[in-house]
Amino acid sequence: MALNGRCLCGGVTYEVVGELPTHDGDLPLPVYCHCTDCQLHTGGAFFASCMAPLAQFALTQGRELLTRYETRPGVYRSFCSRCGSSLFYENHDEPGQLYFALGTVPGFPLQPRAHIFVRSKVPWYEIADDLPRFDAYP
Ligand SMILES: [Zn+2]
Ligand SMILES: [Zn+2]
Repeated sequence: MALNGRCLCGGVTYEVVGELPTHDGDLPLPVYCHCTDCQLHTGGAFFASCMAPLAQFALTQGRELLTRYETRPGVYRSFCSRCGSSLFYENHDEPGQLYFALGTVPGFPLQPRAHIFVRSKVPWYEIADDLPRFDAYP
């Protein structure tokens, strides 16, 4: 499998090759995260993302446009400095991997498999599926 991701303006592009992981520890993947940081980063109700080992990930264009904001020590959220697309989540406690936003991969083929940080879900969005729900991490 090869996935092609991009930001809104197309300046940043990336590729993920090979089989995507189905778990990150106990966390099923892909995942909907309802934490407050994800809401503020995306401007939406949640951040839908999947982890990619860096060995399977390549930034193919736009490194100069990619900007990282350190939300907490060692936690970075990346976005395109030209169009503002929310792209990646990285945690230095988990080296060798990143999370990419499913919405930046047109036609992403897999369904998310869990909801996390449901304790901070926005009141104006109702979860309407039967996926496992966790107040924080599983
Ligand atoms: Zn862009
Ligand atoms: Zn989150």
